[in-house]
Amino acid sequence: MKDPFLYHPLWVSAKRFYDLKSYFFNRFHDRVYKISLDAGFTCPSRDGNCTTGGCTYCDGRGSLLRQRGQLPSITKQLEYGKSLYVRLRKARKFIAYFQTGTNTYAPLNRLRSLYDEALSVPDVVGLAIGTRPDAITPEVIDLLAAYANNKEIWLEYGLQSMHEQTLFRINRGHGLQSFEEAVQMAAGCGVNLCVHVILGLPGETPEMMLETADYVAQLPIKGIKIHSLLVLKGTPLCDDYKAGLFSLMNRQAYAELVVKFLEKIPPDVVIQRLTAEGYRDVFVAPSWARNKLQVLQQISNSFVARDSWQGKFADLAGDRY
Ligand code: SF4
Repeated sequence: MKDPFLYHPLWVSAKRFYDLKSYFFNRFHDRVYKISLDAGFTCPSRDGNCTTGGCTYCDGRGSLLRQRGQLPSITKQLEYGKSLYVRLRKARKFIAYFQTGTNTYAPLNRLRSLYDEALSVPDVVGLAIGTRPDAITPEVIDLLAAYANNKEIWLEYGLQSMHEQTLFRINRGHGLQSFEEAVQMAAGCGVNLCVHVILGLPGETPEMMLETADYVAQLPIKGIKIHSLLVLKGTPLCDDYKAGLFSLMNRQAYAELVVKFLEKIPPDVVIQRLTAEGYRDVFVAPSWARNKLQVLQQISNSFVARDSWQGKFADLAGDRY
């Protein structure tokens, strides 16, 4: 078996994949903490702009902050998050993570104001912006590219699956072409692209999910977030689950699939997430997903069992950039 530290020179930790901690260490020689923000964004797949009802798995409630009432300013949210990390981890650097809703879905002036405010908070070294591929414009890309001259900027696109029939079934409200256009719009502009995928979506076989891995592996992206499918109370997905219209993977099958997925991903792509978590008050299934540490351990065990690592079967001759 290979010494884990020999897998790739970029991988600082002993994990068999390029984790975010390693990336931040390489980039900043320090630990960097992401602070999740809710700026009050809505979503075009809920308000009728592209569809209604939202993705079938999304409970649409937004962050806990939003559920409690009026949202604090971005500065207040960041200062609060910073104070926690400083106290608990002696943190010195932070990324402002615009997480809730579709975080480019507003007029350009509003976006600039929000992003400027976040970047003006001391010790915030960059932004991470979660959005949908159909909610991005060349003007937004130009804005982010300007920030990227001296800040760390991540743009996160939800894809979930490369398969059109799946995107339709989960009511994403956009197809693969829209995603490809959004990737091309941002490629080479200095902004780091991250793609979100979900493993275990209704109607998908393991082969289909690994086709999504092959697809994203050849894109000019710098990061991936892999989520396990969660069934949440009150969602259309929950209705389908209770009606027996699809079944969920067990933890071992999920862990093995994650490893097979990562084997196809080039070793310089940062793996920012390996499972979904949270939503405790509306969580329905699968029960194993409640324990993130056990899921991560099972993934680690699967790497060892397969004597494997991220990029083991990646096409490193591909021209991604
Ligand atoms: S795009 Fe995101 S916020 Fe909008 S419905 Fe889907 S999961 Fe929810």
